[in-house]
Amino acid sequence: MMGASHAVSGAAAWLFVAGTGPVTLGLIEGVDGPGLGVGAVVAAGAALLPDIDHRSGTIARSLPPLSTIAAVVTEKLSGGHRRGTHSILGLAIAMFGAVLAARIYVPIGDFGSYYVGAGIGAILLSAFAIRALELVKGRVLAWVASVSLAAIVVIFAADNWVWFPAAVAVGYAAHLIGDFITTGGIPVMWPVVIKPPKWWRKSPILSDVWKASGSLSVPLLGNAGSAREKVLVSLLTGWVVWAGAYNWIGVNLLGWAA
Ligand SMILES: [Zn+2]
Repeated sequence: MMGASHAVSGAAAWLFVAGTGPVTLGLIEGVDGPGLGVGAVVAAGAALLPDIDHRSGTIARSLPPLSTIAAVVTEKLSGGHRRGTHSILGLAIAMFGAVLAARIYVPIGDFGSYYVGAGIGAILLSAFAIRALELVKGRVLAWVASVSLAAIVVIFAADNWVWFPAAVAVGYAAHLIGDFITTGGIPVMWPVVIKPPKWWRKSPILSDVWKASGSLSVPLLGNAGSAREKVLVSLLTGWVVWAGAYNWIGVNLLGWAA
């Protein structure tokens, strides 16, 4: 999947898991207010994180030279592009990091606590998302937009950051699913990578599912950037717009039809 597709799928997954989904299905009460809104942006940014293993990818180029160094180090540690960061272990490490970040806070007298770790995480991830989606032009504006976004959360939900690790996990998982359904596939159980026998690699459909590299894939979307991917991303964008209007303005864009 392409960067912007990952970002959109991360936001859509968060809105479904934390917002509209549970409410629509009547399962549990969803996260509301700033957590849902900024969580969508954070999930969009987290949906770009696995590709930090790629030195010329969107994230690596987002905040040079810091992001470039992070990309080169991750690429080395995780065994190259689409290896360690694209596995269940990679997801677990990202979740662990987000839980740790959410625990870093500074108590400010009677005003409650300021969640520094989650705040910084939210700024960085929003910056990634804003950049991948090309929502604003230029590096300075991207920073201004993400810092103001994080400031909104700090002001309106200073004590409530429980959604942060959840948004990171949902966004990250959305990326893995996105790559799993394109032809490249992902090494799900990395560092355990089992390669198929020779006869398997020669079979046309089998070798698309369990690849010579040991990666697994159900290539429903075909190659990254395919027409099918664009259709899916358009549908997901529609979902984000509908869920956004429904949750924040209270307008059901599909309601008039019923
Ligand atoms: Zn990827």
